[in-house]
Amino acid sequence: MIVLDGKIASQSVKDSLKIQVAEIHAKGKRAPHLAVIIVGNNGASETYVASKVKNCAEIGFTSTLVRLENTIDENILLQKIDALNNDDGIDGILVQLPLPKQINEQKIIESIDPAKDVDGFHPISAGKLVQGLPTFIPATPYGIMLMLEHFNISTKGKHAVVIGRSNIVGRPMSILLSSNSKYGNCTVTICHSQTPNLKEICLQGDIIVAALGKPEFVKADMVKDGAVVIDVGITRVEDATAKKGFRIKGDVAYNEVAAKASAITPVPGGVGLMTIAGLLKNTLQAYRNRMLDVE
Ligand code: NAD
Repeated sequence: MIVLDGKIASQSVKDSLKIQVAEIHAKGKRAPHLAVIIVGNNGASETYVASKVKNCAEIGFTSTLVRLENTIDENILLQKIDALNNDDGIDGILVQLPLPKQINEQKIIESIDPAKDVDGFHPISAGKLVQGLPTFIPATPYGIMLMLEHFNISTKGKHAVVIGRSNIVGRPMSILLSSNSKYGNCTVTICHSQTPNLKEICLQGDIIVAALGKPEFVKADMVKDGAVVIDVGITRVEDATAKKGFRIKGDVAYNEVAAKASAITPVPGGVGLMTIAGLLKNTLQAYRNRMLDVE
């Protein structure tokens, strides 16, 4: 059984990006620049945002963190995004989700210039992904594809079962795995909260991607021997014995499933780290696309 270690795979992506940024610097050009907007102070969002900013610094990107109050009006956020859209020195814009209730998330996603949409959530980016055109792939599915590539997991002709149909994970994941590409060419079944016989379907999966947000939902009796199991879930579960008062749990019951799987991602230390790698790659791509215009 192989542990698909996100630390190793993401470090390899970051090392390659670091070299590319050094080459950019050597030519006397400015570094790629990511703007991250956080609204309010949700604990998990704070952690993700801090990690994104830290990783940018690690590989030589510039980042700007924009903090806005939880109570702000939607228009203030739209104005902020508009300013970043029009700022030539910004290559990528990311608005950390979820947003407070008074703000329409879809409207915010659609207000980001598709050329700077490094999260890949804009309908233009999603439409291009569906048609197999070059685009920004949502960071988590992108990171999973980078993970499959790093560990050279063969996918061609395999049956992949994706649990979850969200726009940020499950749906784009199903498109990538079914695409005509080296780490695609799977036959994909996409499952969701209304899927009957989920266990029977999972048992047919050569590859299972669990992205439903229910801690330890996928048990050993749902997984066939030798399956590749990708755990996307991140849920904070209260635990008084933990230092922070909670533990991070994935969507897979790791120990029992690992005993049957041929490869499995741990949580933490798996897909989460690859998500950052995907975001960084998208940001460099946005930079390159934009700098071509000025070269
Ligand atoms: P979401 O709530 O938007 O979507 C969950 C999906 O799971 C839905 O499509 C729903 O139909 C399906 N679902 C819910 N209950 C189900 C059930 N009992 N059986 C089958 N399907 C069921 O969530 P999301 O944004 O896609 O995130 C999913 C999980 O992945 C969450 O735990 C989230 O925190 C985590 N996540 C992790 C990363 C990362 O970097 N590792 C990134 C994004 C999301």
